[in-house]
Amino acid sequence: MDIPRIFNITESAHRIHNPLTPEKLAILGEALRLESGARVLDLGSGSGEMLCTWARDHGVIGTGIDMSQLFTEQARRRAVELGVADHVTFIHGDAAGYVSDEKASVAACVGATWIGGGVAGTIELLSRSLRTGGIILIGEPYWRQLPPTEEVAKGCLAHSISDFLRLPELLASFGRLGCDVVEMVLADQDGWDRYEAAKWLTMRQWLEANPDDELAKEVRAELTSEPERYATYTREYLGWGVFALMPR
Ligand code: SAH
Repeated sequence: MDIPRIFNITESAHRIHNPLTPEKLAILGEALRLESGARVLDLGSGSGEMLCTWARDHGVIGTGIDMSQLFTEQARRRAVELGVADHVTFIHGDAAGYVSDEKASVAACVGATWIGGGVAGTIELLSRSLRTGGIILIGEPYWRQLPPTEEVAKGCLAHSISDFLRLPELLASFGRLGCDVVEMVLADQDGWDRYEAAKWLTMRQWLEANPDDELAKEVRAELTSEPERYATYTREYLGWGVFALMPR
């Protein structure tokens, strides 16, 4: 079981697989007023940077589930590197339908809401692992500017304009799903650059090392087109944030 190999190639050097910078991830951890010993569940935990740094900085106990074997191994190595291997557990597997035995103070899905079939389903899934008074974290894109045409939405790699909302509507939608929005940390364009532009050097170096790989043509095509596509579309139109929610 694994995610499509292309992501394991293009994001192999990422610690954070989303447009938040390390500084903003730390701001989010502080904003949540995490208590030492609090349990944090993370569905789609990637390379584990959120759980590992919050374990180091706030003493939380973390469990992460991720479908990428590579990212899961990187997360375990990062835990050792930061001296928190006794605080965090990383499970390689499909997080769809995952409900923890012990209730969590924070239940998160940051940049992977397809795991619950969308935002509404993911909130419902996470709430089944949440203790009373706990916080749900959802990391999700929104439109900074509404795309003027469906072509522009596709340029942002969305299927359609209706894939995402503008920020006020996204915040209002959480209310309609029965949640108070109690905090948020938003990415900015510099953060998007860290997430997207970091893939380009990774792709170039991978191509040098793997010229005959069956994915070499695909990676070459992506490296050629991505900088311009990204600057034209995603960087201008797409916002991204982590929203902290408490069920009403
Ligand atoms: N939350 C992490 C990773 C976000 S990228 C971070 O912000 O750094 C999306 C992640 O979801 C990837 O790590 C990918 O491997 C993982 N993923 C995709 N489908 C999944 C599934 N069904 N179950 C668990 N993880 C999944």
